[in-house]
Amino acid sequence: MTIAVYPGSFDPVTNGHIDIATRASKLFDKIIIAVFDTPSKKLVFTTEERVELATKAVDDLSNVKVVAFSGLIIHFARQVNAKVMIRGLRMSADFEREFEMAMMNKKLDPDLELICFMASQDYQFLSSSLLKEVASLQGNINDLVPEFVVKAIKRRVLTEM
Ligand code: ADP
Repeated sequence: MTIAVYPGSFDPVTNGHIDIATRASKLFDKIIIAVFDTPSKKLVFTTEERVELATKAVDDLSNVKVVAFSGLIIHFARQVNAKVMIRGLRMSADFEREFEMAMMNKKLDPDLELICFMASQDYQFLSSSLLKEVASLQGNINDLVPEFVVKAIKRRVLTEM
């Protein structure tokens, strides 16, 4: 049984993330979306909220689960017996940073294999941070996240930020 972890901040989950999880779920026996509890970026949603939104987003994918983690992803991957780590690559934004992290993770744990999925064309320019910015300026984000995420963002970004 091949278990894969798909780590990130997911603040909040977007259709780009869901697309990667859906495609990965067809290739691996089990996917664990691993929500990093303390990323260095400023968060809008708590860890519990990010886990809750992501869980709802992959509700129809029976082999995908969502769990929060702290510390290094290589330690979490070992804990859950994952042999693969999944990441999504957008055309311009991700490559260098991903390459850097991949080299470091390989040094820390040579047994964990990284598999990157190219972002789908529709979501190449979609990031959680841009999404929050658009939402805060009252832009339409309906095609970019599930409806319950639109509601959660509007509640948070428009009333509390
Ligand atoms: P980070 O890991 O930098 O906190 P995220 O939590 O937003 O970023 O993303 C988690 C993973 O999903 C990363 O591998 C990221 O590149 C990928 N990802 C983010 N947005 C998209 C998208 N629109 N399409 C494909 N992959 C994406």
